[in-house]
Amino acid sequence: MTDFTSKTDKDGVAVITWDVPEKSMNVLNLEGFKELDEAVDAALADDAVKGIVITSGKPDFAGGMDLNVIASMKDNAGDNPAKGLFDGLMNMHKVLRKIERAGMDPKTNKGGKPIAAALPGTALGIGLELPLSCHRIFAADNPKAKIGLPEIMVGIFPGAGGTTRLARKLGAMAASPFLLEGKLSDPQKAKAGGIIDEVVPADELLEKAKAWVLSATDADILKPWDAKGYKMPGGAPYHPAGFMTFVGASAMVNSKTKGVYPAAKALLSAVYEGALVPFDTALKIEARWFTSVLMNPSSSAMIRSLFVNKEALEKGAVRPADVADQRVKKVGVLGAGMMGAGIALVSAKAGIEVVLLDQDQSAADRGKAYSETYMDKGISRRKATEEQKEALLSRITATTDYNALADCDLIIEAVFEDTKVKADVTAKVEAVISEDCIFATNTSTLPITELAKASKAQDRFIGIHFFSPVEKMLLVEIIKGAKTGDRAVAKALDYTRQIRKTPIVVNDARFFYANRCIIPYLNEGIRMVSEGVAPALVENAAKLVGMPLGPLQLADETSIDLGVKIAKATMAAMGDDYTDHASSDLLFWLADEGRLGRKAKAGFYNYDEKGKRQGFWEGLAEKHPHAETQPELTEVQHRLLMTQVLEAVRALEENVLMDIREGDVGAILGWGFAPWSGGPFSWLDIIGAERAVEICDALTEKHGDRFTTPALLREMAKNGETFYGRFGSQKAA
Ligand code: NAD
Repeated sequence: MTDFTSKTDKDGVAVITWDVPEKSMNVLNLEGFKELDEAVDAALADDAVKGIVITSGKPDFAGGMDLNVIASMKDNAGDNPAKGLFDGLMNMHKVLRKIERAGMDPKTNKGGKPIAAALPGTALGIGLELPLSCHRIFAADNPKAKIGLPEIMVGIFPGAGGTTRLARKLGAMAASPFLLEGKLSDPQKAKAGGIIDEVVPADELLEKAKAWVLSATDADILKPWDAKGYKMPGGAPYHPAGFMTFVGASAMVNSKTKGVYPAAKALLSAVYEGALVPFDTALKIEARWFTSVLMNPSSSAMIRSLFVNKEALEKGAVRPADVADQRVKKVGVLGAGMMGAGIALVSAKAGIEVVLLDQDQSAADRGKAYSETYMDKGISRRKATEEQKEALLSRITATTDYNALADCDLIIEAVFEDTKVKADVTAKVEAVISEDCIFATNTSTLPITELAKASKAQDRFIGIHFFSPVEKMLLVEIIKGAKTGDRAVAKALDYTRQIRKTPIVVNDARFFYANRCIIPYLNEGIRMVSEGVAPALVENAAKLVGMPLGPLQLADETSIDLGVKIAKATMAAMGDDYTDHASSDLLFWLADEGRLGRKAKAGFYNYDEKGKRQGFWEGLAEKHPHAETQPELTEVQHRLLMTQVLEAVRALEENVLMDIREGDVGAILGWGFAPWSGGPFSWLDIIGAERAVEICDALTEKHGDRFTTPALLREMAKNGETFYGRFGSQKAA
């Protein structure tokens, strides 16, 4: 296998081309890295070579590092994985540093060979760290290209010198959006931000890079940090301006991460400490911090869920294998309300023809207008053009006529949450569609198996559950009714892939998967308030454990009346088995007080005129005075996490959830479950089943049966098993 090939042209420029065979995107693995090293060595040693251009044989430069590299560095080091990682990283630094120094004399800084990077398209992660070690970065003017260092998004940070080089190139402040937020830019913006040096027409990319290489002087190829008198832009930590930057950055990182994401703090430490020492020592410091992050179970869990497993699900890991391509050409969306309008938008955006149907034409038109407003916003932000807007809108037909659905190959029903209304439209639709067409419902609470009874073809009936707002939320929950067939599942999955969302497939049960786990979280938070736990303690405990919103804020956001509706429906369905009266009583009372949540500018919280959240509503403490003794923070956190996690385990025990990867990915994307943990199953693996049982037993004794340890968890604790050990490997294989 040859990932890198080198060819020297008549002018003496060695062009090293990265082109991994049989892949659409270059990713760096250990063998490839060795080849790069050899190609650079050969070019530097060859007197006929005056300079080097590193480029790609593909439309893009590179998507990043093959994450197995990290695993193999760890594995190859036997019982000292940290050393294996550190040594592996230092070797990477050595090679990139060789490119940067390019054979120049260490004392005079003269005599090196110019090396340029020429990026035809996207350059991410190591795909940018390698160019950063070169002397000049050229990018083709390709507005679709993404350039940046997204590592922080999966719980690590740029560890092949990208952190140290970018901080020194731009200064800590200017580098922070790229390093700390993983901001990606197109080439023009990347140049404006100072990450790359030149943007050139695509067909002149190589020519321009070669010309630069042939004309570059010793001074051109000396990195500022290798020159005498280098000062960090914006000031190093002990400079007054630098001091301000680092104090601010530290506070910002802590407020954003609440101390639960090890990578952000480690990154900042690497930049801060690195700024105080010479460049080569800074690389060593970066490697040490990076090793500490890679050794933290949170980073492996995040990589596994947010990168490896998310991608596997998107590529069809759970798709029935022997069903032909089910890509959707024309979708019928029933109900042009909040959800239907969003579903029409994301479908049309993916190039799918849409028939958007409602009871009267004005409602259908309003639904279509949602797409128009969305595109207008995009145009004002220069993210879309008038032509794109026209093209998108031309794909949506707003109508009241069922006959318009005749040649649809997928129907998604999003009418009122009412069994009768849904049954009525199902019959009307089935009178006009063909046998090829799959019928999906977007219900959030009604059992799919029951709704399917209104259909003549229950094998072609399925749940496709979107989250609101549809265009923003990344997860789609696909629900199989008792009689749903494989083609319906494949259709739902192929459609989800077309609209670029991440799917999970679950079996039918009350509230499916996501809502089943998040509702108990809301209830537990509200219950605590009714017990006299200070609302601030409840909310902060949630945030300090990595939940994006505290349960009370979430209840306000999703609206108190929705909470009331769900509580009433659950009570009716469960009868005497219903045990959440403590929280539903409080919800009913809030609703009676007219405090319906953020939309009413009144809920658990007060809101100002503009709807901005203020402090807690005083009436809450009058109704439920704070208890004199408040619980420990960890106890509150255990209650809030365990209510969600135990539902996930029960869903697995009951075969509602069929794959723990879906449980973890779905939890993070669906309701923001503490992403640092990698999801509920990853969290249980991090703390260990034995400790989890201990926590559950203690909570059960103090707070009741809702915390009863599931039999599966108890058994795993007894056998010393982990979820990924027991359920993960065979699926992943
Ligand atoms: P909505 O009230 O905003 O929209 C419903 C639309 O359906 C309205 O425009 C209404 O005119 C139309 N409609 C009603 N009866 C109809 C009929 N017989 N024929 C044609 N059109 C009809 O409701 P929504 O929030 O968009 O929810 C729709 C569905 O999606 C519900 O089943 C709901 O449970 C589900 N859902 C909602 C959310 C959410 O956050 N709102 C999330 C996931 C799923």
